[in-house]
Amino acid sequence: MTVSVDEKKKTFTLKKSEQAFNAAKELMPGGVNSPVRAFKSVGGQPIVIDSVKGSRMWDIDGNEYIDYVGSWGPAIIGHADDEVLAALAETMKKGTSFGAPCLLENTLAEMVIQAVPSIEMVRFVNSGTEACMGVLRLTRAFTCKNKIIKFEGCYHGHADPYLVKAGSGVATLGLPDSPGVPKSATSDTLTAPYNDITAVQNLFDTHKGEIAAVILEPVVGNAGFIKPTLEFLNFLKTVTKENDSLLIFDEVMTGFRLAYGGAQEYFNIKPDLTTLGKIIGGGLPVGAYGGRREIMEMVAPAGPMYQAGTLSGNPLAMTAGIQTLKRLQEPGSYEYLDKVTGQLIEGILDAGKRAGHAISGGHISGMFGFFFTDGPVYNFDDAKKSDTAKFGKFYRAMLEEGVYLAPSQFEAGFTGLKHTEEDIQRTIDAAEKVFKDL
Ligand code: PMP
Repeated sequence: MTVSVDEKKKTFTLKKSEQAFNAAKELMPGGVNSPVRAFKSVGGQPIVIDSVKGSRMWDIDGNEYIDYVGSWGPAIIGHADDEVLAALAETMKKGTSFGAPCLLENTLAEMVIQAVPSIEMVRFVNSGTEACMGVLRLTRAFTCKNKIIKFEGCYHGHADPYLVKAGSGVATLGLPDSPGVPKSATSDTLTAPYNDITAVQNLFDTHKGEIAAVILEPVVGNAGFIKPTLEFLNFLKTVTKENDSLLIFDEVMTGFRLAYGGAQEYFNIKPDLTTLGKIIGGGLPVGAYGGRREIMEMVAPAGPMYQAGTLSGNPLAMTAGIQTLKRLQEPGSYEYLDKVTGQLIEGILDAGKRAGHAISGGHISGMFGFFFTDGPVYNFDDAKKSDTAKFGKFYRAMLEEGVYLAPSQFEAGFTGLKHTEEDIQRTIDAAEKVFKDL
């Protein structure tokens, strides 16, 4: 039975979440183990989660939400899938970590290599951050060059060289984005606005023979949802090739999400190296980097570039990844994601515009986003024109309506195979109501 919106409002309380979060703040910095969870950019306190299943989450006050965060991407087949849980229970009987080779690593490696066009060999790690750290060392080892180009608003984990505040100029030398990151750690990080061909060409001209790699989110999720132009992606492929540099797609978010073979399959552009995370761990901690065999064979112990991990390739994480990918292989998965996500974003944009708000957005497969600005949004500067105060209000009101979105204007949203058309309609109805009072 569905609870009417008015009934829901009456019963909506976050008392237990508030108590738990106040206690957490004394125990962990900011009360969380990853900053964006703290709701700083939308105001108020975060909800504390008790359990998840399918498209739903429940907080410790007993409120139910339709979830569009999906643990920030991994939950593409739905939370706590019965088959994944059963497979994990079976694997667990044999132990949780061997610190030695296991057959499951071969299985997941074969699946990843078969799926992702650019990957001929893969190394598993434990997070997207680790994957991006490893791939950076590898590009430098392979090219014998040090500089990298990254784009404003793209996130590649929290390793020092990637924590660069992008300047507002066309392209600036990297300056550290956080205290504790020495200038020397980012002095080889060059930045350019996303989708800006001229800025990238200028960097290659200025730093001739010095650029090891260009790394990007092939569809941006960490500055809100921003699509690349095909021209931009093709240019990056050409310019890296011409300059003996490597092209890295950070597919931690887009891998197995935009298509089974990720953004590179969707756009039909093969990077030299790829990083993965999120979905390939099926909700357990996994990251990976992979690419052409001749490059990957530089990684220890096949080659001299050192990178290691105590829990890397552990049987539990491999099992969750394998089961998740198996489900995604079923015919129609990506068509379904594209259909429901398209309905969702069109419904939200339409309702927002009808209520007179400046709003723009889009989706590809099960990844979507919208900005409180007319758009179009091609890069982070465009995204920053959004009315973030309005987003904060919208966010809190949607939460009360039982819809859990990413708690920042500058994060993408995710759907999964368990989102029903009814979920989507309920979400649009909630948005319509909230837009009117905004
Ligand atoms: N790269 C991208 C594109 C990401 O979205 C993220 C995390 N959101 C990372 C890297 C870092 O991954 P992790 O949080 O697993 O370290």
